[in-house]
Amino acid sequence: TEDLARAEALIRTIPDYPEPGVLFRDITPLLADAAGLRCVIDAMIEPFEGQFDVVAGIEARGFLLAAAAATVADVGLVPIRKAGKLPRPAASVDYALEYGTATIEAHDDIAPGTRVLLVDDVLATGGTLQAAHELVPAIGGVVVATSVLMELSALGGRALVPDTFAVFTA
Ligand code: 5GP
Repeated sequence: TEDLARAEALIRTIPDYPEPGVLFRDITPLLADAAGLRCVIDAMIEPFEGQFDVVAGIEARGFLLAAAAATVADVGLVPIRKAGKLPRPAASVDYALEYGTATIEAHDDIAPGTRVLLVDDVLATGGTLQAAHELVPAIGGVVVATSVLMELSALGGRALVPDTFAVFTA
C-alpha cells in the first residue's frame, strides 16, 4: 500500500555503523511517525491474526515493535533479553556471533503450549532469531510465526529461519 511505501522510506540507512563497512538500517524515523508506526505494526501481525496468544520481542529494538504489536493484537508480551538482565531467568540459549558468542534469556511466565508470535526489528544473519526459536520451547511456548520489520537478504539469515515473515526486504 501507499502507507507501507511511505513507512519504508522512513527507514534510514547509516553507513559504517556500528563498524566500518556495515550499512545500518535505522528505524527510529519510522518509529517517530504515527501513521508509519501503526501501518507497520498492523502489517507485522495481520497474516497471523488469531493464531497467537502472546508476542515475544527480542531486546532491544524488538521490544519496541513487540509491545506495540501485543497491544494492537490485544495479547500479552514476553521479553527475550540479553544475558544478565532478568531477575529470575528460567531458560537461556547461547549462540554464535561473527566474533564470539551471545546469550538470550527469558522468564517462564506463560502456560505450557502458549502460542507465540516472535518479533524482532531486523533479520540479518539469523542467529538471534534462530536462538529465540530454541528459547521459546524452553519456557513452554510454541513458536507459531516469526515476524520482522525488515530482512537484509544479502546476509542470508533466511536460511536459518526460513518461515520468517518480513514486511520489508532490502
Ligand atoms: P542477526 O542475529 O540476524 O545477525 O542480527 C539480528 C539482530 O541484530 C537484530 O536483533 C537486530 O536488531 C540487529 N541488527 C543487525 N543489523 C541491523 C541493522 O542494520 N539495523 C537494525 N536496526 N538492527 C540490526
